[in-house]
Amino acid sequence: MLIAMKTTATREQIEAVKEKIFSLGYTPHVIGGAQRIAIGITGNQGKIDPSHFISMGGVAEAISVSKPFKLVGREFKPDDTEISVNGNLIGGRELTIIAGPCSVENREQIIEMADILTSLGIKYLRGGAFKPRTSPYSFQGLKEEGLVYLEEARSKTGIHIITEVRSEETLPIVAEVADIIQIGARNMQNFALLEAVGGAGKPVLLKRGNSATIEELLMAAEYIAHQGNPHIILCERGIRTFETYTRNTLDLNAIPVIKKLSHLPVIVDPSHGIGIWDGVPPMSMAAIAAGADGLMIEVHSNPESALSDGYQSIKPERLKNLLKKIGLLADIMNRSVNLQTNEVNEKIYTT
Ligand code: PEP
Ligand code: MN
Repeated sequence: MLIAMKTTATREQIEAVKEKIFSLGYTPHVIGGAQRIAIGITGNQGKIDPSHFISMGGVAEAISVSKPFKLVGREFKPDDTEISVNGNLIGGRELTIIAGPCSVENREQIIEMADILTSLGIKYLRGGAFKPRTSPYSFQGLKEEGLVYLEEARSKTGIHIITEVRSEETLPIVAEVADIIQIGARNMQNFALLEAVGGAGKPVLLKRGNSATIEELLMAAEYIAHQGNPHIILCERGIRTFETYTRNTLDLNAIPVIKKLSHLPVIVDPSHGIGIWDGVPPMSMAAIAAGADGLMIEVHSNPESALSDGYQSIKPERLKNLLKKIGLLADIMNRSVNLQTNEVNEKIYTT
């Protein structure tokens, strides 16, 4: 249930509604909207009788919520969520571009990539230090050493770091380095990990499991939000279908569907979505055209020798060309891209 307060509601009236919710054994969540305050209720198993609230001072309406997800749903919060990462907004008008290698492989690689991306005006560097691999014999990431290189890349260039957490035990060290903590597809329903990142105090990029429905993705996000962390970015990264020519099937349908159901930003990962490097630019364009708030793209200077996901990684030159096209598409979509300066802008547009 959602208690919509009148625009004239006083602080005391809001407090009284919260007290009432607590007294019924439920949890109130105050949601500040553009127009007025609303108070969401979680913790109830069945329907709540609206008569508890409708006669209280300052209450405009008691609205029953039909969806199983509450905090991440639009019924609770109609306005888009914008997540600030050091003042840069994710989910606003500006498209968010995240790029970088699948894995942190060595110091030089990640520093070089941070330099390249920064020169393009890209503000987010991705790179896994703890890699969840299908085979235990595949490269598992540099682990703590990888985090050290990511930290160095950030302090040298100012780029923001997004890196995956694979277990609760390593969350404290990952959270120390990451500006955004990534939860990978394989961990989307690791509920203990979701609850732990909910308390880690950093924005979370939650990737859709490769066999997860949209509702399961939103319920996973609800676990994080329920722990008090509303700074969640949802990531569509492809789902498993009967098709074998591509690694996954990028579910572009998910973008408008999620945008309707949830106020959270949606980022698309075309690299894992299609799994083939030359399919990445067209699927990136398609994702932006479908209304995504940004992209996460795997980039590698020498994909042939990448320790993971080289086949789906594009070279920096190709990223530059793609950014140019995304800039054009952004205009049509009434969005902008996060290039830092006119100088960089010109450089990209003339490449
Ligand atoms: C990754 O981002 O490199 C990754 C492992 O992705 P996913 O969890 O979507 O497979
Ligand atoms: Mn990868």
